[in-house]
Amino acid sequence: MQRQEQIADWIDLNRRVTITDVCRYFSISVATARRDLQALSEQGRIRRVHGGAVSVQSAIEQPQIVNRMFDTAEQAEGNGPNGARRSILVFAPHFDDEAIGCGGAIARHTAKGDRVVVVFMSRGDSGSTVPGHEMDPKTSERTLKAEAEKAGQVLGIVRQVYLDLDDGFMGWTPDLLREFVRLINRYRPSIVYAPHADESHSDHRVASQLVSDAVPRAGWGAFPTLADRAWAVEEVRYYEMWTPIQRPNLYLDITPYVETKLAAIRQYASQLVMVPYDDGSLGLNRFRGATTARFQYAEAFIQWAVTTR
Ligand SMILES: [Zn+2]
Repeated sequence: MQRQEQIADWIDLNRRVTITDVCRYFSISVATARRDLQALSEQGRIRRVHGGAVSVQSAIEQPQIVNRMFDTAEQAEGNGPNGARRSILVFAPHFDDEAIGCGGAIARHTAKGDRVVVVFMSRGDSGSTVPGHEMDPKTSERTLKAEAEKAGQVLGIVRQVYLDLDDGFMGWTPDLLREFVRLINRYRPSIVYAPHADESHSDHRVASQLVSDAVPRAGWGAFPTLADRAWAVEEVRYYEMWTPIQRPNLYLDITPYVETKLAAIRQYASQLVMVPYDDGSLGLNRFRGATTARFQYAEAFIQWAVTTR
């Protein structure tokens, strides 16, 4: 019965799946997939629909676009009127960008039961020349992936995906754009997080552009070569990391999650010997909170409520 549990969990994450999806993902026959879905449906774990199944949560969830300047901890990540869990996808050019850029938002999501998947683009091979903390590229890669696992546990992230691109030398390519579309179609997020377009680091700008280009394409049902199913993202939130956003249009109150965020950043001990990211991030979040005149700590974003398809 362990497989049925996994299937139920996976349907919650993806919200709506076809029989073919289930067969392919779990490598089982159509008859077995139908039997499993029937059993889960009788247990009330999922709901059967023509040709597949939906999660019970998503069946009752009303898509909710958070389209206001300020968003309190209580109202925010409202997960629909009935507390349904949502799928959230975070694109991080490098290890630690997720924790520094939107670690507070991630902690808010996971505290409310949302499923957060993080895609790390770099393989973390930049190394280090800090005296006493020198690291060759291989050691750097191993260390950063281990630190990312620990940070992910602190934040409650359910899955981490590694694209293993060259640190510092990323470029926009059609293949990478297709990969982003595939990831969005696979994880079916309500909200996507990515760096904002004016970041000083070129890898961040590349990530931002890829997400901006991939989100509309993920919703194109007429391109079977891109993916076998289309997915409409409701919202993109562009976060700040190296370069503060000049005109944010969304502030999330992260006051209750600041300690969790700091704990996640501090898992990246190999990076903190180079830059005090924990202090820097806290300072920026305090500034964002103070300038809202209502929160102690806040993360600021450029919010794109996606309406174009
Ligand atoms: Zn970065």
